[in-house]
Amino acid sequence: MKNRIVLFGLVLTLLLSCKENSKLTESVDEEKVAQTSNTDSESKPDIFYQYSIWFAFVNKVFDGDLKVSELKTKGDIGLGSFDYLDGELVMLDGVPYRIRENGEITVGQDDDEIVYSDATFFNQDGSFQVKGPIDYTSFQKRLNTEMESEHYFYAYRVPVKLDYIKLGGVPKVEKPFTDGLDVLLPIRPVFEAENISGTLVGFYCPEYIGNINAFGHHFHFISDDRKWGGHVMDFKTTHDIEVPWDQKTSYAFDLPKNETFENVKLDSEFQYN
Ligand SMILES: [Zn+2]
Repeated sequence: MKNRIVLFGLVLTLLLSCKENSKLTESVDEEKVAQTSNTDSESKPDIFYQYSIWFAFVNKVFDGDLKVSELKTKGDIGLGSFDYLDGELVMLDGVPYRIRENGEITVGQDDDEIVYSDATFFNQDGSFQVKGPIDYTSFQKRLNTEMESEHYFYAYRVPVKLDYIKLGGVPKVEKPFTDGLDVLLPIRPVFEAENISGTLVGFYCPEYIGNINAFGHHFHFISDDRKWGGHVMDFKTTHDIEVPWDQKTSYAFDLPKNETFENVKLDSEFQYN
């Protein structure tokens, strides 16, 4: 019996010392991970980034000077429009897709210019489930009730299976820019699809953002086969949706450096999303 107790004690000591060793290894590993992710977060800032301001975009500043190569340093998801409204922009996994007014999709090249964009490195803070059936209006209301506070900014990267979706494109414009968004958006090209899978890329801005950005939710969509996308106008689905979200408490924007922006009369107001 005594021998058994001694043996048991020995085994226990061995087990405990193994555990201590593995704890030591674990904490070294954790430190390594922490160091790596610190470097990572420095190169991928946790900031809601915007190019140009909504007020300028509404007032016909349709020539931007933000290169696609620069946008890619600001985020791995994004939305917006290309220069001269020559296509809607959806960026997913760092790839900026351009959807032209005829619905054709290409990948934006590094030298292509962007006139307006929201972008961020998606850094998931949580997720919640929305039960189907649901449409776009009810979906946005759910986002409002789920968010911790409507005074923060949010980014969304949501995989969806949809029964129906209606998307808007943008009509290409030439200089001199005569019509603003209040005229162009009601005549925008509209695309519809049924039974389609893809990703919603979206942003939320609080109401106090005023004329700097569009208040509320703004979503763009890209299909899984990357052949179809645009600005989300409506959708319906019977499927449940798992919604990963990322709260942003830092916000930054760059302004266009050109004559159109320097001389624009910021007088027309227009809100949409
Ligand atoms: Zn849009």
